[in-house]
Amino acid sequence: MAKAGIYFDYDLMANNEIKESFKCLVCGKELACRWTDYHGEGVCLTCGTPYQLIHYDENNKRIERSPQINIKKEYIAKLQQYWEETKKTMSLGIYLGRNPEPENYNAVIEWLDRQ
Ligand SMILES: [Zn+2]
Repeated sequence: MAKAGIYFDYDLMANNEIKESFKCLVCGKELACRWTDYHGEGVCLTCGTPYQLIHYDENNKRIERSPQINIKKEYIAKLQQYWEETKKTMSLGIYLGRNPEPENYNAVIEWLDRQ
């Protein structure tokens, strides 16, 4: 599910920023994304892992770069384990106001708390 239950064309334009084949580091699928509410951040449509898709250099000039996972390194293995155990999207990423999939977000946070 996506924001308001619909993948809007705008959300799926995040895929225009993925310039080459890239496998999601959590679910292993070819990365396809929708936008979150954070500038340049998309989430994997399969597992909900957030990636920075738009990048800038130190002079604030836009640069081309492969997707960068927006998860601390120490959590990547845990999210891979969650994905292997549940196959449930996690709906991570940054949103203004309510997470579009609160049940999925809460489930992964509660699972992480139990680890
Ligand atoms: Zn994924």
